Amino acid sequence: MKIDLKGQTAIVTGSSTGLGRACAVSLAREGMNVVVNYHSSDEEAHDTLREIEAEGGRAIIVQADVSKEEDVARLFAACHEAYGHLDLLVANAGLQADAAFTEMTLEQWNKVISVDLTGQFLCCREAARIFRKQGVHDHSSAAGKIICMSSVHDEIAWAGHVNYAAAKGGVKMMMESMAQELAGEKIRINSISPGAIRTDINQAAWNTEAAMNDLLKLIPYGRIGEAEDVANLCIFLASDASDYITGSTIYIDGGMMLYPGFRFGG
Ligand code: NAD
Repeated sequence: MKIDLKGQTAIVTGSSTGLGRACAVSLAREGMNVVVNYHSSDEEAHDTLREIEAEGGRAIIVQADVSKEEDVARLFAACHEAYGHLDLLVANAGLQADAAFTEMTLEQWNKVISVDLTGQFLCCREAARIFRKQGVHDHSSAAGKIICMSSVHDEIAWAGHVNYAAAKGGVKMMMESMAQELAGEKIRINSISPGAIRTDINQAAWNTEAAMNDLLKLIPYGRIGEAEDVANLCIFLASDASDYITGSTIYIDGGMMLYPGFRFGG
């Protein structure tokens, strides 16, 4: 399998931390120009940039709130100005605002939907417009590629996180419908749906021994995922090695989707 991403350009939203950072660093290591987007921590975005530069990669940093249309337009314009073209969007930015359903405020609902679903819509729409204008060119078999960072909770219901599960469930159908609509223009769109990966977003699920033991009951493969696991899949989906894959959701979860409660029969 040949992976050749050299000279291509990627925007990775929410790449000052976690999975976004791991994807940004790995894509840069493969020779892509990367736009590191962050929401609030310029310092963490610079940590990502330093990691990229330490690997000999190239990147710029752009602050933008993915839930705001004018910020998203500015993000893509900055990419155009720096690199002149775009080959990949990793729509990764996301957050949680958890509450029991009957206690959930409209503010908590709107916060999650506006970033995790509307933010992906705004970024994907901007990317698709650019890919349509560019068409297929030298770098890749596709006119452009989009990877939506979804979750096993686009499929598994999640009590106490109704807003998040609704947003990720929405991402699944949005991704599939976009992929169907744009495949004829050689725009490939897929989702990565992680299970439990060790990042800040889910610290409470792994940062004590008791929490980790509980978590591992849900993971037949017997370990928590690492950001590098997700970054490896990102490289594959970004490259021509996955040229015939579009509209797919790839679960990367150590078997979390396999109804682990049934593991021991009964
Ligand atoms: P994280 O909290 O480290 O990363 C989320 C990033 O999104 C942060 O850098 C944050 O600043 C950024 N962000 C939040 N709101 C934003 C906004 N309005 N505009 C721009 N950026 C914004 O957590 P992570 O685990 O790396 O999460 C990345 C993605 O992966 C999220 O979409 C999350 O839902 C998804 N995911 C993570 C896991 C996991 O186990 N870690 C599992 C399933 C899905």
